Amino acid sequence: MAEQPRKIKLAIVGGGIAGLALGAGLKKKSHIDFHIYESVPAYKDVGAGLALHMNAIKAMTLIGPEVRQAYFEKAMEMGEEDQEMSTEVILAQGPNQGELVAELGKAKGRKTVSRADLLDGLLELVPKENISFNKRLEKIEESDDGIRITFKDGSETHADCMIGADGIHSATRSYILGPDHPATEPKNHDGWQIYRTMVTAEFAREHINPKWTRTVPILLGPRGHVNCIPLNKGTRLSAGVAVRGAKFTASGQAPDLDPELYKDYSEDAQRIVRLVARDPSASWTAADHDHAPTYFKGRVAMMGDAAHASMPFAGNGAAQALEDAAVLDHLFSKVTQAEHIAAAFSAYDATRRPRSQAVVDLARKFGRVYAYAEEGMHEDPGRMKQFFGGAAAFTNNADLQRQNDDAMKLFEGAVGGGADGAEGVAPEGVEVV
Ligand code: FAD
Repeated sequence: MAEQPRKIKLAIVGGGIAGLALGAGLKKKSHIDFHIYESVPAYKDVGAGLALHMNAIKAMTLIGPEVRQAYFEKAMEMGEEDQEMSTEVILAQGPNQGELVAELGKAKGRKTVSRADLLDGLLELVPKENISFNKRLEKIEESDDGIRITFKDGSETHADCMIGADGIHSATRSYILGPDHPATEPKNHDGWQIYRTMVTAEFAREHINPKWTRTVPILLGPRGHVNCIPLNKGTRLSAGVAVRGAKFTASGQAPDLDPELYKDYSEDAQRIVRLVARDPSASWTAADHDHAPTYFKGRVAMMGDAAHASMPFAGNGAAQALEDAAVLDHLFSKVTQAEHIAAAFSAYDATRRPRSQAVVDLARKFGRVYAYAEEGMHEDPGRMKQFFGGAAAFTNNADLQRQNDDAMKLFEGAVGGGADGAEGVAPEGVEVV
């Protein structure tokens, strides 16, 4: 009897959107033995709402139609898949008040979803035995025979390679770049504070224009932009005011949100500001990553927010995490020997780093445009429309099949004839003669 090829042992650290989506793809590859290590004991709903753009939906479809389906099931009522939806960007202050300057991420079946609901949906796709909770990565050591990972509880595991999907404050990023590298820690260059409230949709309808409890508006002005995201199939609403250049105290405390500062905004926007100011307990301080010079070191790579956390203004952080997962999932279909890992990570880095870092830059620019801080832009809605149109084309309309193909070409070029692919590995239980 021929010896079965040894499986590639892959540790994924972090079971957020990136880690779970990658796991959902890898479980279909019989030559990969993967395990997800997640630090929290269980997912908590912190009220983050996501409006996934078309590129996110395309990336999920590339990983598998069941991934896209998991999103649809959590995000919307049955039967809504054919309805087009977009994020409406409207000027709320100044001489062009009321002008619609962008419809972002327009797509059929596009809906909002809470992060917690999406995680639940993705988790259902990952076999229970492939994920451990309460496992916080503390130390990574690489040697000739692979990676040793130590967790906070003192336990250890060994793998051929590791992918850190451990979010914006990533320990993997610190390992890859070094703790003192200027791009390791996230930064808040423009002093963004996001004031946010979570209310029931019923309560919101009594206080704001009911229209904004069903769609995703972004109402712009120089002292902050106002935004609403319906969640939990329309039963709850996340409403926020994002302020650029907030005057933080020396201890990092943001000032209270003062609705009086928004008197020259549209009535719709002012009502949302007052709703947020009532109970801004879901507020947070935003940050993003400066460009990392690489997304991998040896047999350790990073993905998702760990690699390229962005400001939330372009609505594309999760989408980029899903694009990473689609490319890595595709590459690992051909990683049948440990010797292929470096080539796969190199192809992933070359394919994904430029695009995902361009999105980080774009999200910063979105923030400045939203805050009327890009010269000449808000006085000229035509220019604004052009900017948003170009940005939407870059994020939304990307050819992700081609991105996968380009990554695979790089990988195959590097390993030469050595990449025999998953089809070269016998499924479990099948004897190779
Ligand atoms: P995370 O979701 O942060 O997951 C990281 C996981 O790693 C977590 O589960 C964490 O517990 C775990 N972890 C951390 N440290 C360790 C450790 N040491 N050991 C083990 N596990 C660890 N994106 C969009 O595409 N569209 C949007 O509309 C959008 N809106 C947003 C709105 C808000 C308010 C915010 C904050 C973000 C938004 N984003 C949006 C961005 C999106 O939420 C993130 O880009 C996405 O969640 C990144 O996924 P991730 O899996 O990389 O990281």
